[in-house]
Amino acid sequence: MSTATLTPLEEKRLSGQNRVMANLPQASEEAVAERIRREITSDQICVLTFDRPDSSANVFDRATLEELGSHLEFVEQNKTLRGLVLTSAKDSIFIAGADLNSLAKSDDEGLLRKLVELGQDTFNRLARLSVPTVAAIHGACVGGGYEVCLACDMRIATPDKASKIGLPETQLGIIPAWGGSTRLPRLIGLPAALDIILGGKTVASAKAFKVGMVDMLVPREYLLETAWKLIVAGKRVPRGSRRPSPKRLWVLNNRLSARVAERRARPAILKRTRGHYPAIPKALDVVIEAVRGSERRSFENEANAIMELSQSTVGANLIGVFFLQERAKKLNVLKGNDVPRRKLERTAVVGAGVMGSGIAQWLSSRGLSVTLRDINAEAVARGMANVGKLYGEAVQRHRFSKVEARQGMDRIFPTTEAVRMTNTDLVIEAAVEKMELKEDLFHQLEDLTSNETILATNTSALSVTKLAADLLVPERVVGIHFFNPVHRMQLVEVIRGEKTDPEVLHHVVKFVQQIGKLPVVVKDSPGFIVNRILMPYLIEAALLFEQGAEVKDVDEAMLDFGMPMGPLRLIDEVGVDIAHHVSETLSGPFSRYVVVPKVLDKLLERGWLGRKSGRGFYLHDGKRVRPNQEDERLMRDDQAANRPLGQLQSRMVLLMVNEAARCLEEEIVEGPEDVDLAMIMGTGFAPFRGGPLRFADGTGIERVVSEMNTLAEAGERPFRPCDLLESMARTNKRFYNQ
Ligand code: NAD
Repeated sequence: MSTATLTPLEEKRLSGQNRVMANLPQASEEAVAERIRREITSDQICVLTFDRPDSSANVFDRATLEELGSHLEFVEQNKTLRGLVLTSAKDSIFIAGADLNSLAKSDDEGLLRKLVELGQDTFNRLARLSVPTVAAIHGACVGGGYEVCLACDMRIATPDKASKIGLPETQLGIIPAWGGSTRLPRLIGLPAALDIILGGKTVASAKAFKVGMVDMLVPREYLLETAWKLIVAGKRVPRGSRRPSPKRLWVLNNRLSARVAERRARPAILKRTRGHYPAIPKALDVVIEAVRGSERRSFENEANAIMELSQSTVGANLIGVFFLQERAKKLNVLKGNDVPRRKLERTAVVGAGVMGSGIAQWLSSRGLSVTLRDINAEAVARGMANVGKLYGEAVQRHRFSKVEARQGMDRIFPTTEAVRMTNTDLVIEAAVEKMELKEDLFHQLEDLTSNETILATNTSALSVTKLAADLLVPERVVGIHFFNPVHRMQLVEVIRGEKTDPEVLHHVVKFVQQIGKLPVVVKDSPGFIVNRILMPYLIEAALLFEQGAEVKDVDEAMLDFGMPMGPLRLIDEVGVDIAHHVSETLSGPFSRYVVVPKVLDKLLERGWLGRKSGRGFYLHDGKRVRPNQEDERLMRDDQAANRPLGQLQSRMVLLMVNEAARCLEEEIVEGPEDVDLAMIMGTGFAPFRGGPLRFADGTGIERVVSEMNTLAEAGERPFRPCDLLESMARTNKRFYNQ
């Protein structure tokens, strides 16, 4: 840590938030540090600004904790100081939590424990300061980032969208262990704290204010000034804070309430997680103990729990999933300094149906202008109504203010005309899934746009290469496959056609990242990656049903595995017609092992399409859904009924693993990380298992192959392991090095 006066250049580097320092009494002492800048106002208020160099995010690693420790020592020793403010210089991130690299790489248990204790000791030191302390939050404030705020007397935050606050640790297979599990229930009461910690939730600052996680919402330009005023006024709790009063806290946190809360939470957790996410019951234990026992004991509980959890396979897999997402956020198709930069800002979406309107809403919410075109006024009006509905829901969830939603709507220009789009950077076609229609559209788009415009299709199953074949510039055609519903699904498959220009691919990957989605680059091939791997699994589920398995047993087997929904229920939700269409499409190129199950033909013939028609594998009556036993006889293959079915779960899972390996074999994607990310983010594949290929590694490739061969030898065609799996088993290889 170095101490120096700010140079003019460094002053220039101060972000918008720091410039607000100008509104405070003149700084009398300034220190430029590695990651945390210290400034003292003339009326003796110390401001610590987190500003990790060369990074858009602040994180807590050992060095940052030590640096904070030395600033706290300075505050302890400097008796003239009147208060302390913590803030960040970053545009959209306050502090993004602990540096998970140190957790993932910590094979040495001793080192990990020391890091946990260093965090606890540093934050406890902050909590013990005799002067008032304020966390002035703008941007994402999560995990360790929020735990440091919990150690302050007061927390104020901007109402901006960027300001998201929470403790997501349980989603990473660990628990808040730098005081979060101890301090949050003591601040906002047990029920609200359990909701945040067990759910691993990150909430908008408006919601955080409502429950007392932050005390005030303040516009960004007044953030530091407000912190300063609170200290000068000698406050410890700001007026208007929604934190429960001490009396109310006693009611929420006494032994009886704790017992009731625990009794309620434990079965609910078991039902939700089926025992797969040990961090959640462990967090429950620690939080309940936090309100029952001493603070010191609770910190020990936190440390013991995180040590145990972070060494487990589930913890390692969940942290692995976090890194898969980080990898996708930084993915580059082209590398090096000569890569041309191009921001795609003016967009158009053709087709205003379910997907087109969803895409238009998402793009406009990210500040992009969108021309939304469909064939007639009714279709456009329906699309705009859906956009309005999505914005309305987002406002209710505090994602946007009403004004922001209005501005988002205003960025969409609905039209029924084939307007010229020479200034448009990117057109996304989301019209009905018919090759001829799409081919005509692309010819038309070629005339309406300039050669610089990138032409993308959102097709689920048609060939991007074929679509581009007759165009004058096929190099500018690419697939951008969003998933339904667009606003919820983070994954986007970026499809590389045979002629797609690598620069176009690069810009599209950057675009997907820019709009906050996770790209996975996929070679143009039937089903791309997600549907290709998912379909054999869904087909097997349908075949198992045909052969006599109960709907409930098939779905329960996969819920037990950790899937968010059983495969037969998923077919109903997606629509039997769509599942039929995709399996038919894949049964062409992959006829060796993909067949269209007869039960799908039967359901389709009768118009039993699942949720949309009220009848399918299940009977759907609003929220009431139950297995369709009424039509079972009609749906099943009578002769095959009661055949021995073997292990339901392993049959369905093995087919996913096999297909995932085939995708690597055929170089559909670059590496196992792409497959695992795509399946987790695109289908909800049990995250704690790390993806189908990570799961195969964990099970042992040899065992996977041997189980498959046993089934294949019994005459079950689809179970023949692919060459890659066979050779990996022979040579004792894994998909991942560690
Ligand atoms: P949809 O039927 O809801 O909407 C299609 C829209 O395209 C309709 O509004 C229709 O009027 C319009 N359209 C038809 N011809 C047109 C033309 N010549 N010019 C402009 N608009 C035209 O369909 P959808 O579910 O939104 O699917 C659209 C595309 O997205 C398809 O290629 C589909 O395979 C793909 N997709 C769908 C999903 C899904 O779950 N629905 C998921 C991913 C991808």
